[in-house]
Amino acid sequence: MEIELKNEIGLDPENWEDIRDIGYQMVDDMVEFLKNIRKKPAWKKIPEEVKNTYKSKLPQEPSSIKDVYEEFKQNIFEYAKGNVHPRFFSWVEGNGTAFGALSDFMASTMNSNVAIGNHSALYIENLVISWCKEMMGFSEQATGMLVSGASIANITSLIVARNAVSGKMKEDGLYSVNKKLVAYCSTETHNCVTKAIEVIGLGNNQLRKIGVNDKFEIDINLLIKQIEQDKKDDMLPFCIIGNAGTVNTGAFDDLNKLLEVVRTENMWLHIDGAFGALAKLVPEYQDRLKAIEEADSLAFDFHKWLYVNYEVACVLIKHPELHRKTYASPANYLLAHDRGLAAGPDAFSNYGMELSRGFKALKVWMSLKENGINKYKALINQNIQQSRYLGQQVEKNKKLELITEVSLNIVCFRYVNTKFTGKELNELNKEILMRLHESGVATPSYTLLNGIYAIRVANTNHRTRKHDLDLMLDTCVKIGDELSKEFSKMLTHESN
Ligand SMILES: *Cc1c(COP(=O)(O)O)cnc(C)c1O
Repeated sequence: MEIELKNEIGLDPENWEDIRDIGYQMVDDMVEFLKNIRKKPAWKKIPEEVKNTYKSKLPQEPSSIKDVYEEFKQNIFEYAKGNVHPRFFSWVEGNGTAFGALSDFMASTMNSNVAIGNHSALYIENLVISWCKEMMGFSEQATGMLVSGASIANITSLIVARNAVSGKMKEDGLYSVNKKLVAYCSTETHNCVTKAIEVIGLGNNQLRKIGVNDKFEIDINLLIKQIEQDKKDDMLPFCIIGNAGTVNTGAFDDLNKLLEVVRTENMWLHIDGAFGALAKLVPEYQDRLKAIEEADSLAFDFHKWLYVNYEVACVLIKHPELHRKTYASPANYLLAHDRGLAAGPDAFSNYGMELSRGFKALKVWMSLKENGINKYKALINQNIQQSRYLGQQVEKNKKLELITEVSLNIVCFRYVNTKFTGKELNELNKEILMRLHESGVATPSYTLLNGIYAIRVANTNHRTRKHDLDLMLDTCVKIGDELSKEFSKMLTHESN
């Protein structure tokens, strides 16, 4: 019997005008939101009744897009993280831009799966990768791809570094070498590197976390000693992960020295430059970061210090054959053809773990064209100068203390009061930070540096102005003064 197809359905709107209306509404809402962002609190607590809506049951039947959008506006849009705000300084997070958001919208409209094929998105991603190489002074032969973030960019590189050790790593894994592989980084290295080492089969005991000097840079002598020791113990040192901008303090390891070490020891140098590598665009840092050009691999984010909308990062690898050999895995359904849709550039799945991938390159392409690299250079430099200014303001204020020298765009400070012990100051500053967030004035984050709780301002914010920094510091001092009184009362109470 012939199959009868009746009442076929699809997901396109019944009335395209509804989509047009809501699309215009969304653009209006975006413009109002971003245009007036400064007037909004930097952070807002989510009320319980709103949180309850986050637990609703799986929708069974359709709703009107108007209702869905209204609910989004009330319960989701309203409680954004706030990293678009001019006084957001937490962790290391970028702002994104209006045009970046719109380009994501168009990328999503095309909905190209940038895995394989003969279509514009693949060519544009390759173009963006070649811009990345130019930006970083990286060899033109290098291969690379866009990934979701530096975490994945780091792991993508470390897998290639591991496979470079033995020609049989693909077939026999770590059993192809009769020695334990060891990698090296500083104690200040981002934890995603530890996670990467754990999942590529080495285990974190094989990641040597080398101590740092007083500027939080890897101690080269300790590193060399450890490598010597490991070789004596019949292990196989294979990779050093250098920092171009540590997450805690923005410190740069001495990359030139690390290069010397990898060259003498025949190891791989990977650089985690999540945000710090971008400082290479600023003349002042060009020499210090020159060694990036010589590294075997490099990871950096677009969504942090290039202010591109989440999520997009870049990985570059100096050794095209090794890179491809690591990830390529023949499959009949992925064979390239000479013509038609299945022709086109080498598939990105030959260079990383992902097959289906979105068109992340579009927002990078659009943003770089919209602004030009010189504007980014000026902005990155502006963030560095702002951070130095903030450091100066902290030093000028007797009630505040700078915990470590401002090395790039990260300022770690605390409120001080001689009445309190170190431990009490840690408590006090933690409370200051939470109240500062709740006030909605500003959202820096925190870290512990040598046991000291520091309020930490990371500035990758293109919306920040000098007065934002002033307001944040004034508010910290105000809260600190109030809290000091409360704390003193509590402490006398406790000692009675
Ligand atoms: C943010 C950061 C990472 C992780 O990057 P994601 O983009 O969040 O995956 C790695 N290293 C450093 C130094 C970072 O600042």
